[in-house]
Amino acid sequence: MKVLIVGSGGREHAMAWKCAASPRVSEVLVAPGNAGTESEAKVRNVDVAAEDIAGLIRLAQAERVDLTIVGPEGPLVAGIVDAFEAQGLKCFGPRQAPSQLEGSKAFTKEFLKRHRIPTASYATFTRESFDASHVRRQRAPFVVKASGLAAGKGVVIVETAEEAISTAQAMFGGQFGDAGREVVIEEFLPGEEASFIVMADGVNVLPLATSQDHKRIFDGDNGPNTGGMGAYSPAPVVTPAVHARIMNEVIGPTVRGLAGDGMPYTGFLYGGIMVAPDGTPNVIEFNCRLGDPETQPILARLKSDLTVLCEAALAGRLDAVTAEWDSRAALGVVMAAAGYPDTPRRGDAIEGLERAAQLPGKVFHAATRRDGDRIVTTGGRVLCAVGLGASVREAQREAYALADSIRWNGVQYRRDIGYRAVAREERR
Ligand code: AMP
Repeated sequence: MKVLIVGSGGREHAMAWKCAASPRVSEVLVAPGNAGTESEAKVRNVDVAAEDIAGLIRLAQAERVDLTIVGPEGPLVAGIVDAFEAQGLKCFGPRQAPSQLEGSKAFTKEFLKRHRIPTASYATFTRESFDASHVRRQRAPFVVKASGLAAGKGVVIVETAEEAISTAQAMFGGQFGDAGREVVIEEFLPGEEASFIVMADGVNVLPLATSQDHKRIFDGDNGPNTGGMGAYSPAPVVTPAVHARIMNEVIGPTVRGLAGDGMPYTGFLYGGIMVAPDGTPNVIEFNCRLGDPETQPILARLKSDLTVLCEAALAGRLDAVTAEWDSRAALGVVMAAAGYPDTPRRGDAIEGLERAAQLPGKVFHAATRRDGDRIVTTGGRVLCAVGLGASVREAQREAYALADSIRWNGVQYRRDIGYRAVAREERR
């Protein structure tokens, strides 16, 4: 079979690599892909942008693609799955209506409240409806969120009501473009966050391995938020008891609630879950796709055939399959360009990739491009070095051995990915 992966990041490299490893798959196309996808066996990049839905449909038809898997949220929120289905093409991901779980935080908060799914208390405002006195009556600290898609950057945590008010006003004023037309101001929840990703087929749910990511740019989880600086799987904070609570109190009611609301959810569903000190799982956010960088360590552990799981989901038969996991832990370190997250520098030549290829583990590419016989950076998050090991500590060692063998001008990466999990292991 022929598979098309839509997107160009580290997540998409991991998806393409995983699909290409399937004996059922003759070829994987990646639109548009990167220098890493291009160098995988059985994988071919095609120069069609992830947002060009009409172009992707033409590509899938011309190449007789059997299965399309969508990486990023943009095309999902824009309705790529509905458009593929209208042409009779198999495309794994949620349709446009349920993709609002990621596309609109205002939609999600209202949905969670109506279905009594645990989440932070909140209020939604537009510039016209904004009520500063309401904010002043709430308890600090606050989390201020642009409602629309803002590439993971439209969330600001502030200590006082006055800061919350000025942050919201900056969002109304266009700081995040259209994404800030509506603003959600919510209660700050203490706890430890985990990424809980499942596959859904409208009715049935297949949970993937748990994971945790690091969103801040600097060690110790300091500095501005990024798309993600590293991740590992499994997440020790998700004990079997917490896992059961997330399935029963969050994922189950969400999938049933969406079906009941007339928008059944098929695709990857990513819950950002804040696990309170007493184990209560609160929804921080939903994403309508796999996480980046969580996908890289998760798929490094997946032993089952991803194409089989996606096809089972599209047939409404997730109840008939199981996912098998490598019992080892996996940990990915994101290597970013100078200036990331604000103004990443582009065009630096990457050295050491051949050396890294001789080491255990796997380097997934994100913002890379081949330029003659060099591979150069093309954006902020450039590579993700993934190691595996009997413990998170060992996976961390393998990942950093890989990362340390690669360099370019201005490369930056955190030295402490996985520290919470390592501390838990050492307490045991
Ligand atoms: P989001 O884009 O909604 O995932 O928010 C980005 C990050 O902000 C999350 O990963 C959390 O670390 C943090 N965050 C968001 N909402 C809250 C909240 N209500 N309480 C505490 N932290 C939050």
